[in-house]
Amino acid sequence: MGYEEVLPKPIKEALEKITKIPTYGERGASRLLYNLMKLDLEERRAVVESLREAAESLRPCKECFLLTDADICSVCSDPKRSKRFICVVEESQDAYAIERLERYKGVYHVLGGRIAPLEGISPQDLTVDRLMERVEKNRVREVIIATNPNAEGEATANYLIKLLKSRFASLKVSRVSYGLQFGSLLEFADELSLEKSFENRK
Ligand SMILES: [Zn+2]
Repeated sequence: MGYEEVLPKPIKEALEKITKIPTYGERGASRLLYNLMKLDLEERRAVVESLREAAESLRPCKECFLLTDADICSVCSDPKRSKRFICVVEESQDAYAIERLERYKGVYHVLGGRIAPLEGISPQDLTVDRLMERVEKNRVREVIIATNPNAEGEATANYLIKLLKSRFASLKVSRVSYGLQFGSLLEFADELSLEKSFENRK
């Protein structure tokens, strides 16, 4: 018997499905599946059920594209948050990392990625046009660019700064840059450096 016959069908199919998730290769898929199997049946069901719930109910906020279970996210619908400050992030998890600090009082704009010419991702593939519309419509005072501190995040930030400055002369545009203690993703930036960088934005 070869490998294909030895491998139970449910394992084969689950691995196949999981590898459809971006960044999940065979190794990541195996780790997820085999570690899931270490839980008892009840817990496994709970994990799968919560994933199903998330998969069915989450969608981008109609205003800022933050992943939410409502048409308009809880940030955009909060009357205490100022719509005249927009913090631009690559992905929803970056915004939620900033929310953990509980000190930013503006709203967000989720780009849905970063400009990556090598992968064929251009500004048209991101929500850049919607950002321009929002800045205009809400008479925004400041846009804070919080893309990730790697080459592509920097290139994306530079592109946005140039574009915003050319279209809105009086708009303040700042770039959040934070010390990278570990990892390069905003999601993993430790809270202190993230907080400091918000204070020191230029
Ligand atoms: Zn929103």
